[in-house]
Amino acid sequence: MTRTVTGRTDHVVVVGAGLAGLSAALHLLGSGRRVTVVERDPLPGGRAGRRELGGYRLDTGPTVLTMPHLADEAFAAVGDRLADHVELLPLHPAYRACFADGATLDVHTDAAAMEAEVERFAGAREAAGYRRLRTWLTRLHAVQMRRFIDANFDSPLGLLTPDLARLAALGGFGRLDARIGRFLTDERLKRVFSFQALYAGVAPARALAAYAVIAYMDTVAGVYFPRGGMHALPRAMAAAAAGAGADLRLGRDVTRLERSGTRITAVITADERIPCDAVVLTPDLPVVHRLLGRRPRRPVALRHAPSAVVLHAGTRRTWPHLAHHTLSFGAAWRRTFDELTRTGSLMSDPSLLITRPTASDPALAPEGRHLHYVLAPCPNTRTGPDARAWTDLAPRYRDRLLTTLEARGMAGLAAAIEEECLVTPADWTAQGHAAGTPFSVAHTFAQTGPFRPRNLVRGTDNAVLAGCGTTPGVGVPTVLLSGKLAAARITGTPGPRTAAGGGRR
Ligand SMILES: Cc1cc2nc3c(=O)[nH]c(=O)nc-3n(C[C@H](O)[C@H](O)[C@H](O)COP(=O)(O)OP(=O)(O)OC[C@H]3O[C@@H](n4cnc5c(N)ncnc54)[C@H](O)[C@@H]3O)c2cc1C
Repeated sequence: MTRTVTGRTDHVVVVGAGLAGLSAALHLLGSGRRVTVVERDPLPGGRAGRRELGGYRLDTGPTVLTMPHLADEAFAAVGDRLADHVELLPLHPAYRACFADGATLDVHTDAAAMEAEVERFAGAREAAGYRRLRTWLTRLHAVQMRRFIDANFDSPLGLLTPDLARLAALGGFGRLDARIGRFLTDERLKRVFSFQALYAGVAPARALAAYAVIAYMDTVAGVYFPRGGMHALPRAMAAAAAGAGADLRLGRDVTRLERSGTRITAVITADERIPCDAVVLTPDLPVVHRLLGRRPRRPVALRHAPSAVVLHAGTRRTWPHLAHHTLSFGAAWRRTFDELTRTGSLMSDPSLLITRPTASDPALAPEGRHLHYVLAPCPNTRTGPDARAWTDLAPRYRDRLLTTLEARGMAGLAAAIEEECLVTPADWTAQGHAAGTPFSVAHTFAQTGPFRPRNLVRGTDNAVLAGCGTTPGVGVPTVLLSGKLAAARITGTPGPRTAAGGGRR
């Protein structure tokens, strides 16, 4: 049994209606708590936001949805079903990988289809290696999910279980790229199963092999797209929460927490005081620390993940080689990660994620038009150009991106753009994200699991953290879990696990 908050917890105020806050709200409602959600923005979703631009409907944040059963767990907590709100389209292929040598590979989640694709791409030996890799990824996920990811722990000692030995035996504490190299020799293929380290904010050469669990999520468990765009997910969660009795107060910035001794007694916005028995805090860590009036001491300052530039382009045409998700790899690899995480320069030979949501849902653009979302990783504002420098840099970087994309098969892109919007670290900074990155603190070893900022707050008896800055970490599946784990800190019940999550063992 892990620790819970103490005292009354009848009325819980959740600060933030991002995916973590909404997940926490649903799990709390399911355990019979009265819940008020207070959100600064006029819409729910947080980083999984929505912007309308000349008839195009843009998802501002995540595009790769994996492990949707974790969202379903939140709906199930209130007796609802994700499927009753959102139509999920499985993506085939999950990604298309385009390499600098002109070769392409479709990443299939079906084992036989992927094996055949790997054999076509790199021969029978690599296909056999892929088969072994898939088995390893599946085992790694099974060992990690219940004990290390979908779990609250009170101290690193809590990890000393047989699963830790199993994770060590699987090589989870080695380095990611070396471990993938035990299965595959083709450098291009290795990238397909190790680039996900960047989702964790770490280079594959430095990431723990345990983070291959992300490659399990997208290359084995599968990638989905909600009809109506990613924003349909938080919208549906907010509707389910309201339906289950949550009081959603949107467009209200929480400015202060009222405290009596070691308890938070009320959440304060510009025009109201909301009394509470407990709070769940989901904003970025600096905001949470400001609201709590204290920042936990750490021996070493937190390191933030790299950031990203996102180019949203509404176009009059599209390019047939693009799948829903296309990974456009440059020839450079180690150098790219060095630039992103160490030298702080912009990628000289970029690797990009190009998402074409209108491939699955044409209604996201006006009739006959197409939407392209290009995510270019870039250094955060502590290692690279600061927010002010991005004001000058943005138009030049936009042009550079367009030149690269045109050279990589999207000829005529610049001329085909009807509406566009470029989001840079200056914008992430303006939204209050530390180090100009929306990807929070990196998943280095020292910021993983029990070493990541904890979800209980020392010195405050009734506050719990949720969201990407705390455990388990960044990404849609993990923040959904963080909401559930935060709720469990309040209710003492772990909440439902759906069959796809492995069930309760
Ligand atoms: C460009 C981009 C691409 C991404 N791609 C993927 C992807 O493909 N797949 C994936 O799994 N993950 C992806 N992610 C990561 C994922 O989207 C995030 O980790 C996750 O959405 C964060 O959710 P959260 O609830 O922790 O934080 P948030 O969504 O930021 O929620 C916090 C909420 O708190 C609110 N708030 C802040 N301060 C206050 C205040 N004072 N008062 C009231 N409310 C406040 C905010 O407005 C916000 O709504 C991406 C993120 C971005 C930005």
